[in-house]
Amino acid sequence: MLIDMDYFFVACEELRRPEIKDKPTIVGFDPKQGEGRGVVMTCNYLARKFGIRSGMPISTAYRIKPDAVYLPIDYDYYEKMSREAMGVAKRYADRFEQVSIDEAYIELSRKSIDYDSAVEYAKKIKESINKETGLPCTIGVSSNKLLAKMACEAGKPDGIKLVKEEEAKEFLKGKDLDDLYGIGRKTKEKLEAMGYKTVGDLAKANTMELMEKFGSYGVEMQKSANGIDESKVEENYEVKSIGREKTFERDTTERTVALAAIRELSNEVIKEVQKAELSFKVVTVKMRYADFTEHLKSRSIRRSDQYDDLASTATDLYSKYASRVKRIRKIGVRVSDLGKEKGQKKINSFV
Ligand SMILES: [Mg+2]
Repeated sequence: MLIDMDYFFVACEELRRPEIKDKPTIVGFDPKQGEGRGVVMTCNYLARKFGIRSGMPISTAYRIKPDAVYLPIDYDYYEKMSREAMGVAKRYADRFEQVSIDEAYIELSRKSIDYDSAVEYAKKIKESINKETGLPCTIGVSSNKLLAKMACEAGKPDGIKLVKEEEAKEFLKGKDLDDLYGIGRKTKEKLEAMGYKTVGDLAKANTMELMEKFGSYGVEMQKSANGIDESKVEENYEVKSIGREKTFERDTTERTVALAAIRELSNEVIKEVQKAELSFKVVTVKMRYADFTEHLKSRSIRRSDQYDDLASTATDLYSKYASRVKRIRKIGVRVSDLGKEKGQKKINSFV
């Protein structure tokens, strides 16, 4: 099964602000009357009706719907809600693999012997999550991770969708190429240029031709198009954050001192990220001043595991937001929304 929380950040906000429930709501960067930079992180289904999507520039969303509710990203709160929801899901799992703040695979190898009982389990999990946290989710049920993921997409929102192994080809064949998990826009364009329009076309494509064009990735793609995925539900991975802090021997207002500390901390954090074979999406810089006030700034970036991405984002957050006058006592760099994918999702990462 794949459990995916529906419009997660906004759903979390709805819990503590019931008044936004029937309004188009967007969690993301400050739209600043249409001048804001940065993107929409999540929006609810009411906002989606107007064509607003996660990942869209916040300024575009503002142009479409200036009177929507715009909320800032409260990552600590969403992580807390994620731990609660995932904790419930985990209780039902034989094997459990969390893949992002709001998604997890569940294997029911021992408990479940057929599809009917798997669906019964999915209902129980969904109900328990909803009862214990108040949050909606969708569950895809199938014979492997790829199909569970695709089923989940098809079941959204607030659904349970079963795709049996024997139904996989039929289920997949009419879908757009970039609906197949792991195929991005560029690959889609190449495939279309070769004459393949749908997942069904790719399933029946000439394997040699795919290999010539894409190497082993072509073979994996074709396997996916046929609903084949042998990857395991991998346990021992928990979403958390990785951070380092440094307290200065003497409080400082010196920009060069602070930036050197940020580079040093970024380097330490990246070492740990890479050792754990993880990647991150959110960078947070914390500044504690000599007067003990604290300043926390976060930014979401494209998923990465690279030093340059971390150091440049952290430097930018410091440069934009640090006080010019207050002396800094302590500085911290932290990454969160950890995942296993490196950069953009690649098909090889799950096949
Ligand atoms: Mg989700």
